[in-house]
Parts: sequence; structure tokens; C-alpha cells
Amino acid sequence: MLRAFRVIIAKILVLPHIDQDRDAILREWIAITEINAPSKQEQERAKYLESLLRKFKLEIRYDAAGNLIATRKGTARKPVTVFDAHMDTVFQPGLKIKATIREGRVYAPGIGDDTRNIEALLATIRALDAANIKTKGDLVFVFTTDEEAGMSGAKQYTKDNKGLVDYYVALDGGYEGFTYAGIGINWYRHHFIGPGGHTRSRTPPYSASLPLARAISRIYDLKVPSNPSSNLNIGMLGGSEVVNAKASDAWFTVDLRSTSNEVIADLEKQIATILDEEAKRVGMTVKTDVISSSPAAVLPGNRDSQLVKIAEAVHRAMGFNPSIGNAGSNNSSAALLQGITSISTGAGPCEDSHALTENCEIEPLYKGIKKILLLEVALAGLSQ
Ligand SMILES: [Zn+2]
Repeated sequence: MLRAFRVIIAKILVLPHIDQDRDAILREWIAITEINAPSKQEQERAKYLESLLRKFKLEIRYDAAGNLIATRKGTARKPVTVFDAHMDTVFQPGLKIKATIREGRVYAPGIGDDTRNIEALLATIRALDAANIKTKGDLVFVFTTDEEAGMSGAKQYTKDNKGLVDYYVALDGGYEGFTYAGIGINWYRHHFIGPGGHTRSRTPPYSASLPLARAISRIYDLKVPSNPSSNLNIGMLGGSEVVNAKASDAWFTVDLRSTSNEVIADLEKQIATILDEEAKRVGMTVKTDVISSSPAAVLPGNRDSQLVKIAEAVHRAMGFNPSIGNAGSNNSSAALLQGITSISTGAGPCEDSHALTENCEIEPLYKGIKKILLLEVALAGLSQ
């Protein structure tokens, strides 16, 4: 592998194209960011990206989920390597976005998540063409919809292309390292249902806030393992609408996460037991709504896969000492859950994602783009 790598590095890293293109990259990155694209409203941004992609020799199409797909054909058409970046943002429709540059950083909602990676893909496509690089395998660039609101874009693409994709790289967050598995995320709303009543009505029955308080306290006493990496949070709660009524419906949310589905199932069971016991103690009932659930995305053997080995070598070749994690939370999970070998990484360091103060360092993006370029060629293989 080492010799092949030297050839690739010689060909790619000496390429001046990314450095020559610096100003154009920055301008294009900002232009894409300034078209807001809330989840399920990505069409305007997609049309703009399509107009940029039309300048290159790519096969371009949309799928049923609105994903914009551009294929750069390889001489042997195999392996098939997918790189994705998501088009959607978490910001409200109609938000006017205007980027500003201060002290080496660019500020704009969505500049990092995930426009930095959209721009990285465009810059690599331009560099591959400028250097006349032919790959053996196909490089498929997928600009996905709806990552932030449930990954329906990536789910559609990976379902449609299951069995056709050899490597799937989701670009989202990340810079110096990458992930090879996805954390499971489960959101619940638990209700205690009781008779309610006026403050001055006979007690008991109590307000449903009593079993709620007892249950929350006991749930926080549960042992949540740090290995496998797991988290539990109770972030929202509610009860009566007024001060002078006992709550007939008191509810709270649980955000339960783990890289192990067994841990999630075990904690779910323990929480259910606590809820039942506390409801019984005060003569009430429990109702649980699952707000959303996505399992941990673990593909057996993926840690030792060719994709992970190549990704590690590429990061080291770029001078990174990569962290290799198993708690990703992005489109990579959709691929892994379809049995497609996948990692997730990104093209630059950013801060405050999902906030109006979101910003990215400008300088590292150029190095990040070179890393993505190297990864593309290393995976797709150079054609002589
Ligand atoms: Zn994202």
C-alpha cells in the first residue's frame, strides 16, 4: 500500500490547484452558504450547485428524495466510492444570510454544517479535472437532503444503491479524525396520567408531578456506562397549565444515546420499571411516546476494513494524528445500517454549528480539501 500511496501523494499533494484556487474557493463557499436551505427546502441551493457541477464532465441526476447526484466515471467503473455532504441547514425559512470575515474566520449560519464540505467536494472535482486525473473506480458525489431532520435523503440513496456502493464517506463535521460507526439516538416523552384536581381537593390523589419528580431522580441514579460511550439527558418537562391545579398529565423527555444497542435496550427497560413502580405507588398510569429512534449503526468488522485503513493512512500522510471514533451521528449511519462500509470525516474546523454565530477558520479548509482529494484518489484508485 505504501508504494501506491507515494505515487498518489506525489501526484496530488504537489498539485498547485487547490492553492491557486484559494480565493475562488472562499467566494464559492460563501455564495453557497448565503442560499439558505432549511431541511426539505433545499431546491434553490441544489439548483445553484447543479449549475456549478454542469461545468464538469459528470453525469448528473436527482433521485426521489431530491438528492443531487454527480458521477465522475472511472475507467473500470469499480470500485464505487461515494462522497456525500448535506445541503440542508437547521435555520428557519426566509432567514437572510450574509457572511462576514474577521481575523481569519468566516461567520455565517451554516458555513460549517455542512457547506464547508459541499465546497470541499466542488474544489476537489475542479482539481481532479484541472490535473487531468483519471480514476479506476467511479467517484459519486451525493449532495443530500434532510440530514438534519432525520436523514431521509441519505436513507433513500443508500437504500436505492445498496450492493452497488463499495465505500461511503459522509462529510459532516470533523477535520483531523474520522468515525467508523454511529451512535444510537432515542428520544421519548413519558407521561404520568392521574385524576388531577384543585389544589384544595382531597390529597391524595396527588398531582402527577409527584411520580414525575421521583422518577426523574431515580433515572438519574441509573448507571450510564461511559464505555461503550452512552449518555442520558432529561431536558424538557411539563405539568398543569396553572398554579392552582394538580397536574393530570405530567411529562418529561429522555434523550438516550449509546454506541451499543444492548445498552440502550437495557436502560430502556430499567426506565420502564421505574416509571411503572412510581405510577403504581400513587395509583396512576404511564404512557410513553417515542419521539424518534435511530439505532446505533455498527457494522461488524468495519474498524478493520480497507476503508478505515486507507482513511487512517490518508490522515497520517496529511500530518494528522487522527482520532478514530465510533460515535458518529450523521449520514454515515444510514449507509452502515444498509451494510455499506462507511466513515465520516470533514474538511475543516468550525464552531457553533446550529447557531447564528456559526463560524469556521479559513486557512485549514485548504488542507482539509487536499485531504479529501487524497482520500478520493486513494479509494477510487489511479488509472494509468
Ligand atoms: Zn451536519
